Amino acid sequence: MRITSQVTAVCVALAFALAASAQNLLITNARILDGTGTDIETGYVLIKGGRIAAVRSGAAPVGGPAIDARGMTVMAGFIDAHRHLIRGDSTAWLKDHARESMASYLDAGFTTVFSMGDDPKGILELRRRLNSGEIPGPTLYAASIIPLSMPLPRPAAAQPPGGFTDPARNDPARPPNRPTTAPPAIPDDAVRAMVRTAKGQGFDALKTFMLATPGGPEGHTLSVIVDEAHKLDLRVFTHATAVEDALAAVNAHVDVLAHTPHIGRLEEDESARQTLLNAHVPMVSTLAVFIPHFDAQNHPLFRDGGPFPMPGPLASGGQGPVNARILWEGGMTYAYGTDTQWDPKDSLSDELRALSAVFSPRDIVRIMGPNAAAAIGRSADVGTIETGKTADLVILAGNPLDDVFNLTRVAVVVKHGKVLVDHRSRR
Ligand SMILES: [Zn+2]
Repeated sequence: MRITSQVTAVCVALAFALAASAQNLLITNARILDGTGTDIETGYVLIKGGRIAAVRSGAAPVGGPAIDARGMTVMAGFIDAHRHLIRGDSTAWLKDHARESMASYLDAGFTTVFSMGDDPKGILELRRRLNSGEIPGPTLYAASIIPLSMPLPRPAAAQPPGGFTDPARNDPARPPNRPTTAPPAIPDDAVRAMVRTAKGQGFDALKTFMLATPGGPEGHTLSVIVDEAHKLDLRVFTHATAVEDALAAVNAHVDVLAHTPHIGRLEEDESARQTLLNAHVPMVSTLAVFIPHFDAQNHPLFRDGGPFPMPGPLASGGQGPVNARILWEGGMTYAYGTDTQWDPKDSLSDELRALSAVFSPRDIVRIMGPNAAAAIGRSADVGTIETGKTADLVILAGNPLDDVFNLTRVAVVVKHGKVLVDHRSRR
């Protein structure tokens, strides 16, 4: 009886201390991969007011609520720089699935997610609910899609079995699907008006799809979009899956390439390689789209959940990583992003399998942290563990430098200094 009431008193005191020091937190005895390349074998991270107040090696100062991270590794919270979040009707999704879906991002260690195209109303409403704290989840940024030309009728590519229509199954950037005639242009004034409308709606960035046609308007239109977007402090992401489209995008001065170009061989094209590197434009990985996802029955699946198609995407599953490594060697800021429909943890596993073909665990830590932050334009805030940055952290149950799949063993997730996920009792 006595012991029980003492325990109760301690619990209440602890809860009181936690409430009193809201957003103050100390993580002790941790291996720290701060993302800048300096590892701390044993050290601590002090968080005050939702920001990182100190990162040091050695023993921590005493006092305040603490997480003992002995045997665990602390990294900056994960960032997915290319994701689609809403499935199906956005009103129904927001009502029935948003909360659970956002929890799955946090569970997998993601504290920042960039939507590269979702239902506009739905994604802005999701961002509002996340920002207001109505739904716990990652920090969300959203891009609005702006076309680079008037539409042309798409050639009827061979329909894959089962009615799966994922555009990456029959990528229009890949011959023979690639269009050979130019679509009509959108007048510049109308293009600029679309950019201003997206800004007025509250979007954080713009997304465009580059498919450069012979003599077509795409490059010019993209440069108009970039010009208007930069006046309004909007970043422009461009989807380009063929090397020639990536070249057209960087020539129009986009801010980010939203994919690794997997059609076209950079090892055979020195000039393309140099043009892409000299542009100093970050690139988002999205490599796992082109390797199979294996379900519980060991069926190889494409990202739309249908059977894994052959042979184009499978060839890209090899060429994408080769192009990525070539650009990495040349100094490209190469960043983590998935573009798949799988659960965030499964997406992370798949992306790690694809990245591991050509990147070391040390490379991947950089790709997921500082490089992903650079791609989304948030380097000043997130992506590394440094004094003054937002306290978005993940504590892992193993060292990713020993085994990169330790990135999937999330024990604790801290966002803005608050513990939002704590799986330590599960271990
Ligand atoms: Zn996408």
